[in-house]
Amino acid sequence: MKRKKIVAGNWKMNLNYKEGIKLATAIAKKMPAQSDVQVILGTPAIHLKAVADVLQHFSQIAVAAQNCHQAEKGAYTGELSVDMVQSVGASYVILGHSERRAYFKESNEVLAQKVDVVLEKGLTPIFCCGEPLEIRKKKKHVKFVKKQLQEGLFHLKAKEFSKIVIAYEPIWAIGTGVTASPEQAQEMHKSIRKLIAKQYGDKVANKTSILYGGSVKPANAKELFGQKDVDGGLVGGASLKAPDFLQIIGSF
Ligand code: PEP
Repeated sequence: MKRKKIVAGNWKMNLNYKEGIKLATAIAKKMPAQSDVQVILGTPAIHLKAVADVLQHFSQIAVAAQNCHQAEKGAYTGELSVDMVQSVGASYVILGHSERRAYFKESNEVLAQKVDVVLEKGLTPIFCCGEPLEIRKKKKHVKFVKKQLQEGLFHLKAKEFSKIVIAYEPIWAIGTGVTASPEQAQEMHKSIRKLIAKQYGDKVANKTSILYGGSVKPANAKELFGQKDVDGGLVGGASLKAPDFLQIIGSF
């Protein structure tokens, strides 16, 4: 079964407004006309509208928010609702990035609520999971990720789950320059697909795009994306440079 190939950039808290528009424009201008890769730009919230405007004639490039609140609206000073990010052009929301989990104490329980509100509004969650180094050293990485998926996603019905994109991002590989080897990525992606199959059946599992994240660069993207169960990447640092990001998109 053919799965959607996806390359998503996560700009994190980088680039001011002008720089963000410049980067989005540079990517859009050089995008191959006939690509079957879904490209997503995960911009800071303040850039979403302007970047979505830049991309309005590029149907294969979408915009993602990097987070949203689990409540529909209300007294949550400084937060953003799904309705807000959708109203300025986001069609994806990155949820459960390890930086959100670590610095903002986002639990699987809260993430499950965020997944629900994002799906209710018709946006697509990019659900991040991944283990810290000490867990991998103890060879408990598969069990660790299983718990994140069970608690964050497996309350969904099959129909809802089939809209989810998963990003496996081993924490020890994020922003460190250390990439998981293609074999390590494939091992985990295969395990994740197996878990999905057990929960929702083979049809849903074979349709779910599972992205790898963690120091993806032009030099390693081709090998990583060449793995059977790796359907693309969530890219941090290398998504901030148009030539690098475009090269990664071209790696399929
Ligand atoms: C990320 O932020 O999701 C990420 C994978 O970052 P980097 O590519 O810089 O490791």
